[in-house]
Amino acid sequence: MNSAERYFVTAEERGELGHAFLLEGEDQALLTATARRTAQRVLCEKGTACGTCESCRAVLSGNHPDIITVSHEKPDTLSVSEIRHQLVDDIEIRPYRSARKIYIVPDAGKMNPQAQNAILKTLEEPPAYGMIFLLADNRNRFLPTVLSRLVTLRCEEEGGSEELTENAGRERLLQLLGHLRAADASELARAASDLKADGMQAEEALELMTLLLRDMMVIKAEAGTKLRVPEAETLLSGFADRLSWAEADRCFTSLQEAKARLKANGNADVTIEVFLLQLRELLRKA
Ligand SMILES: [Zn+2]
Repeated sequence: MNSAERYFVTAEERGELGHAFLLEGEDQALLTATARRTAQRVLCEKGTACGTCESCRAVLSGNHPDIITVSHEKPDTLSVSEIRHQLVDDIEIRPYRSARKIYIVPDAGKMNPQAQNAILKTLEEPPAYGMIFLLADNRNRFLPTVLSRLVTLRCEEEGGSEELTENAGRERLLQLLGHLRAADASELARAASDLKADGMQAEEALELMTLLLRDMMVIKAEAGTKLRVPEAETLLSGFADRLSWAEADRCFTSLQEAKARLKANGNADVTIEVFLLQLRELLRKA
């Protein structure tokens, strides 16, 4: 959970959750993931993003009718008619099945001034059930009038996963992922000890997986952000093509669970095996 997500949890607990937010950061994939996870939690029947209630299942399958992702046709502009049609007018229609109706606007910095003016009144007086996430790399892309109506949150990856040591384990893990769909259970069962023999601990393997999955989201979102593990681009493009957004999200959930298990002193071999099995299932099903 990053600082933006922690803000949402606290604000919600205090009953102070607002209606309109700007998530600001260079990493589009991270912004999207933050907005989607927050939306899932807000709509969850248990209020926890439990992953199992009807609402969570709809979110994870990418089919929740009360989460709307605003899209644009031209790569460089989000036009006034697009914002009117998909948000300003649409938000007046009550939620389909939830207490909230949530809008996610990727590339919101590409709204031209007319589009920004069109959204102004909605930001000022949103319906009680409305919630809007604008995602952008820089708050300076917005008119001051728009900015003043948003809660702006910086969104950055936390933890020191930048500096991964180069070792043979890295190469081994990438190879394993390359044929993961066809990998047999015994290979996955001994993956952690094989990696360890190559100098890579389980924690390190999961950190590398974090970078790989983020790169996969970058590729999937066509965000154009620099990849952290460029040598895995072909492999990850394959994953990105194969997995839906919901399935890609589930990869992250599995990874978070694996990290939590390891932190709680879970068995490293089993943790890595279970994670790889889950990833393999997602890739096979897709
Ligand atoms: Zn739930």
